[in-house]
Amino acid sequence: MAEFDVVIIGGGPAGLTAALYAARANMSHMLFDQKGLGGEIMNTDLVEDYPGFATTTGRDLAEKMAEHAEKFGMKHELKGVKKIATDGDRKRIEMVDGTVHYALAVVIAAGGEPVKLGVPGEKEFYGKGVSYCAVCDGAFFKGSDLAVVGGGDSAVQEGLFLTRFAKKLHVVHRRSEFRAQAILQDRLFTMDKVEKVTPATVKEIGGENVVQWIDVVQDGTTRRIPLDGVFIFVGFTPLGRELFTDEHIEHDEGGYIITDQNMRTNIPGVYAAGDCRAQLFRQVTTAVGDATTAILHAERYIEELRHAKKTFPMASGEVIAETASAMEVVRFQPGATIVKEGDPTDRFYLVAKGDVEVVHQGKVLKSLRSGEYFGEVGLLTGAPRNATVRAKTSVELLAMDKAAFDRMLKQSAETRDAIASVAATRDV
Ligand code: NAP
Repeated sequence: MAEFDVVIIGGGPAGLTAALYAARANMSHMLFDQKGLGGEIMNTDLVEDYPGFATTTGRDLAEKMAEHAEKFGMKHELKGVKKIATDGDRKRIEMVDGTVHYALAVVIAAGGEPVKLGVPGEKEFYGKGVSYCAVCDGAFFKGSDLAVVGGGDSAVQEGLFLTRFAKKLHVVHRRSEFRAQAILQDRLFTMDKVEKVTPATVKEIGGENVVQWIDVVQDGTTRRIPLDGVFIFVGFTPLGRELFTDEHIEHDEGGYIITDQNMRTNIPGVYAAGDCRAQLFRQVTTAVGDATTAILHAERYIEELRHAKKTFPMASGEVIAETASAMEVVRFQPGATIVKEGDPTDRFYLVAKGDVEVVHQGKVLKSLRSGEYFGEVGLLTGAPRNATVRAKTSVELLAMDKAAFDRMLKQSAETRDAIASVAATRDV
């Protein structure tokens, strides 16, 4: 058993970026991936849309990312994670081999897998004319005859992208009706170079060394379509949410984990980044951006967790984790007014770093330092601010809105009593 600040699940571009940032921030961390480092991008031949690398291969880019993270102290193990569950203010990470680890925060960067057609030739010609990513590989097929397989938004939207390069594009779908949005269908199917092949199923993909044809079955007969590339979009299976069996992690209909703009999921301390996250685009660039945000926020969350624990030692771990996730860091320069006497009371503040002074009718009444808090009287009574609070030094405060404050009091009777007794001692 080991304890970490953060555990990262998945060793693709998102996971490697998260590990790089965690290592550089000196956070104790561990990245787990049972398949090896690199993720799905290892299966992409050429990559020409990652800034700074005009032309590289997916494997080369992934290896460079791993080397980079290792140079700065990334720790990783090629092991599978079986289950993640909240245990107080920590996450319990149960491994496939039965060992258990704990972390204050977890970043899910487990990616996902394109659904395979499962026909002869698909595996054999992968990277030699079979692709699951038009944006990655489309440009290598300028002036070629291509096919997309599938009838959803991905097939039609990626098909639209491929029309920039294709001389002819066959859209092979097992039904005559397409489930893709009408507007996307209108755009694609009004193009002369696009031909619908429906209802039809792909029976085999073949050629010599590279893809040269597909056999499709239509109306009971098999016909061969000569072409240079097949792009398959019959669904994508995101991974990660299945690790949460004891609590619900919010996800969309497709199983993608829902986050806010800071990559936070609905579970305090759990973040999602990259292809397993609900978002419009699934690119290496978006994955590394997600992971950067996730780790930087996780670092802040852990700091807030430690402050909340110190300030409310009587609250349970779950309450502390939820309290920390509801806090926002705000900073003030010396002399700045933080709250003004007479203003409506809308936030509760905890002093994380530096000193503040409480001023009433022009007189400094007292100083508050790290670990002390203010703003609770107005929130408890509904009254306006009864004093002005100014930054005495440079200060860092953790602020909580009224809804989160009320939730914290509701969840922890001990915290409510402690805050009420501090409020009773206030002069103003
Ligand atoms: P999808 O909507 O699940 O569509 C998959 C397509 O593949 C369906 O047309 C399905 O046929 C077909 N299919 C599935 N298994 C097949 C098989 N074994 N053989 C042949 N065909 C098969 O997947 P998606 O297009 O990747 O989209 C996933 C989600 O992302 C959707 O919610 C979609 O709206 C969203 N998305 C949105 C956008 C956007 O621009 N807003 C872009 C991309 C994706 P049937 O129709 O017969 O079931």
